[in-house]
Amino acid sequence: MTEHFELHELPMLSHPTVVHDELVRDDEARLRAGWRNAALVRVDPRGRVATRDGALLLAEATELGSEPVAEAVLLGHDRETDGSETDVWAVSVGWLPTPAGGGQPETVELRTGGATLRPSEAGMLATAAALLSWHATARFCALCGSPTAHALAGWSRRCTQNGHEEYPRTDPAVICLVHDGGDQVLLGRQPAWPPGRFSVLAGFVEAGESLEACVQREISEEVGVAVSNIRYLGSQPWPFPRSIMLGFHATADPAEQIVARDGEIAEAHWFTRSQVRESLSAGEWTSLEGSDTEQVPLLLLPGSVSIARGMLESWANR
Ligand SMILES: [Zn+2]
Repeated sequence: MTEHFELHELPMLSHPTVVHDELVRDDEARLRAGWRNAALVRVDPRGRVATRDGALLLAEATELGSEPVAEAVLLGHDRETDGSETDVWAVSVGWLPTPAGGGQPETVELRTGGATLRPSEAGMLATAAALLSWHATARFCALCGSPTAHALAGWSRRCTQNGHEEYPRTDPAVICLVHDGGDQVLLGRQPAWPPGRFSVLAGFVEAGESLEACVQREISEEVGVAVSNIRYLGSQPWPFPRSIMLGFHATADPAEQIVARDGEIAEAHWFTRSQVRESLSAGEWTSLEGSDTEQVPLLLLPGSVSIARGMLESWANR
């Protein structure tokens, strides 16, 4: 008994965005020429960016200086309808500028509010978040401990002593929707989550491990259940701070006893398709937080930016 399904749409952060072009990153003349009309994304310490009427608000790169500055990272370029290219850079800032008319800037944080942005903008911010958070933690050479410096328009850091080069890191994590081949899905609640909040199970790939082995190990460790029929669904970057979520589904036997792992999973249960449908139509974590507790449904599912919600929607509505 194997029920196959596919993601009904591309995950929010996996949509096509600005063009990544490795060749321009060490072309100083090209970068300088592009800087003159380049766009700039400012990201504050809380990962927020300025928006206007719900759309990403871009600044001009030349506000930082007449040439590319070391702390800016090149996200890529936008290709205009006339064939011209506009480079888009990002930079970390202490705070977002106050709007011209005064008042507080309108902002969005990718992880909680990314679903309100256009998918291409959300994808661009995923690249910005991944690069900027890596730079913040890669300031010293892994070989000799000397300071490292920006290189390749922010896509590398080079040791100032021995030239050793490092590239932005991404940690693979698997996320797996476990179902019974019929109308039930197995969901878990992490100890830090409030009662009623559940999601599909996930975990980091260990060194030297295949993705399939990781799915089996994680599900077994977290809920004590054996899975089979592991099938790949799709992926999306999750730069909080540096993961990529690799989505799978697999089947398990609801008769098998669930043993929630101490510390990682507080409780896990089988839910029916109609329970999941009802919860999906009620809203998501972020929109329900702080609302009247009597209106909060029994089952709270993850937000639209996560691949988890897309996986659950695809399974529930097939
Ligand atoms: Zn070094």
